[in-house]
Amino acid sequence: MNKPTVKEMHSFWERNENCNPSSPSKKPKPPEPQNAMTIAVSSRALFSMDVEQDIYEQQGMEAYLSYQFQHETEPFAPGPAFPFIKAVEAVNAKLRELYPDSEELFDVVLMTSNHAHVGLRLINSINHHKLFIERFCMTGGNSPIGYLKAYHTNLYLSADSVKVREAIEEGIAAATVFSPGKICEVPETQLRVAFDGDAVLFSDESERIYKAHGLDKFFEHEKAHENKPLDHGPLKGFLETLGKLQQKFYAKGQRMDCPIRTYLVTARSAASSGTRALKTLRSWGLETDEALFLAGAPKGPMLEKIRPHIFFDDQMFHVEGATELGTVAAHVPYGIAQRFPSKIGKDIKKDVPAKQLV
Ligand SMILES: [Mg+2]
Repeated sequence: MNKPTVKEMHSFWERNENCNPSSPSKKPKPPEPQNAMTIAVSSRALFSMDVEQDIYEQQGMEAYLSYQFQHETEPFAPGPAFPFIKAVEAVNAKLRELYPDSEELFDVVLMTSNHAHVGLRLINSINHHKLFIERFCMTGGNSPIGYLKAYHTNLYLSADSVKVREAIEEGIAAATVFSPGKICEVPETQLRVAFDGDAVLFSDESERIYKAHGLDKFFEHEKAHENKPLDHGPLKGFLETLGKLQQKFYAKGQRMDCPIRTYLVTARSAASSGTRALKTLRSWGLETDEALFLAGAPKGPMLEKIRPHIFFDDQMFHVEGATELGTVAAHVPYGIAQRFPSKIGKDIKKDVPAKQLV
């Protein structure tokens, strides 16, 4: 898979930033963490730092710091989480217009284990791309968990699967974000978030039946338990957060043109096992704007049509299928599927050096 080059990423986003009406000229005050919908993003998820990461891995910390220092005035190119963060900021701009005094907004925290010296290059990059990120957490290599909790984090996106797994184990919604194989245009005025169902919004209880006893038993089980809601999965809370903000737009008559749109993209089939998924969402008082039951068909082509800013799945197979067709996909390391790594799933381990800068 030939990933877009740093130059291509720069020019793509610079073209978009110039015509994005939500690009801020004046920075408003960030909301208090307890009122905000906090998204913590790592520096390697937000920006493309592949060159720097290679220097760190091959030449060590001193060479890495010296490279960063020499390139301090050069902004980083956008990374995989960049379009999502841009869309989140466009939603904030609309919320501020409709509710000037409310602090129920997204707040983005940059969570990085980078050395403070790299902070200046990160600040330059944030200013260059006109992002609203006021909160930085430079953990100096320590675990981010305590900081994620202190910020009441609603979602943590990182390029480091070890830290993401740690966050999931602590009950924090988290995912490892992967760059797409090609650049796809995503909407500028509507944040689109797509979720897998089992082991993402829902627990993995049905997935366990499938893995242990096969598809027929799974269908039977789901039919028999149709009216019993599934337990919640790691990203249920984030869907709830998006739902709360959607309600604020609905209250102002913006239901059809709401700047947030959510999608359930599941391998379940509508007739045999989809009912339980929909009934579970309803029992929680939640819904997605669209529900796509693919009955085992590949998710990548459907996501290519939806053009979400991010897609969450617990299986690397689906993450890879999505990224190949240009969707930014994020892996949620939760549930039984983690014990059955796919051929591609092995890459995730290979991708994680013993010590990683994020
Ligand atoms: Mg799943």
